[in-house]
Amino acid sequence: MVCNKVVKIALICDQIDKDGKDVNYNDIYKLLWDLQKQTREAKNKVIRLCWEWSGYSSEYFKTHEEYPKDKEIFGISLRGYLYDRIKGDYNLYSGNLSQSAEIAYKEYKNSLKDVLRGDKSIINYRENQPLDIKNKAIQLLYENDNFFVRVALINKDKQKELNFKDCSVRFKLLVKDDSTRTILERCFDEVYTITASKIMYNKKKKQWYINLGYKFTKEIDKTLDKDRILGVDLGVINPLVASVYGSYDRLIIGGGEIDKFRKRVEANKVQMLKQGKYCGDGRIGHGVNTRNKPAYNIEDKISRFRDTVNHKYSKAVVDYAVKNNCGTIQMEDLKGITQNKNERYLKNWTYFDLQTKIEYKAKALGIEVKYKNPKYTSQRCSKCGHIAEENRPEQKTFKCVKCGFKVNADYNASQNLAIKDIDKIIEQYYNKG
Ligand SMILES: [Zn+2]
Repeated sequence: MVCNKVVKIALICDQIDKDGKDVNYNDIYKLLWDLQKQTREAKNKVIRLCWEWSGYSSEYFKTHEEYPKDKEIFGISLRGYLYDRIKGDYNLYSGNLSQSAEIAYKEYKNSLKDVLRGDKSIINYRENQPLDIKNKAIQLLYENDNFFVRVALINKDKQKELNFKDCSVRFKLLVKDDSTRTILERCFDEVYTITASKIMYNKKKKQWYINLGYKFTKEIDKTLDKDRILGVDLGVINPLVASVYGSYDRLIIGGGEIDKFRKRVEANKVQMLKQGKYCGDGRIGHGVNTRNKPAYNIEDKISRFRDTVNHKYSKAVVDYAVKNNCGTIQMEDLKGITQNKNERYLKNWTYFDLQTKIEYKAKALGIEVKYKNPKYTSQRCSKCGHIAEENRPEQKTFKCVKCGFKVNADYNASQNLAIKDIDKIIEQYYNKG
């Protein structure tokens, strides 16, 4: 299975000219701005040409009762014609320009029906267009423990004008964490293959970035069993419990680190309140920005923490599924009851985010993810199927009033979720009365 991914890395200018002199980074940024503008213009021109062709086609149809063939009209394909019409107008490297043209052409085609129906206006690319970079235009370099890229960006004319050695510009990659470094090492060692990428400007950070595309083939040594289901319950006592039906082994993710984090955040809030740095509702301070800043920081921190933790938890779930040869994961469909669920282990915590991450990681490994109506999964005895509110003498315990089966309540719910078509089984149970 091929996995396509993107990693975002900040770029630092590292260009020398033909004579070996350093090129001022301001000149490079100016060049990038200019190329960005040109990319936008080129793409908008492609859209205009496509639109003209559509108009011509429908006129042609009225008189000929058939649509014109691009090769008969232009002598080449429509795509070839589009590229011919734009190639002389810009300083962009030819491979990148043809990629931009291709992207615009595809987006035009995909939107055409909606445009003709009047549901959408015709595409108009705006100022923040990324530079489209063809995979062949990127060369990854590794020198003195640092990674660099040479990216072909300009045509011959521009190269001469700028006195560059060739059509590329060299950047140092600002590698901020180990996972990015690992990705780059694998690209450099050709374990991963670099694919089409983009260079874009981040206004907030005032920084240029490359969204480096890469792909790799993932070997799964065994085919996972589609009928073996991992039931994942987002629980009362524990944030998450997962198990395979009939197995006492289970994956439990405790809420310890989340509780700790919450307490720390709450304590910080109190501290800030005391210092007048944190303003709750209804308090008036000295201007919106100063007033809200510390509060925003807290929100940022929470969301970063949640992101990290949910990545870790979702990975644990998917690893557990693979270890147990499960080709399917079943989770609760949280639509409509999200609010309640969030109360369970951390206010404003999103189980939804956790599920999204599990689904994303599972799919990458070919594991199917199904969502089941969670109604009654916590009250149903996973052993005999009896459903009763009385089966839950207390929050953490499940004890079946019919067969006496007694287990941890979250585990019991995960067992129910590990049953194929559990929703239909519960429906039948009630239909029989
Ligand atoms: Zn029972």
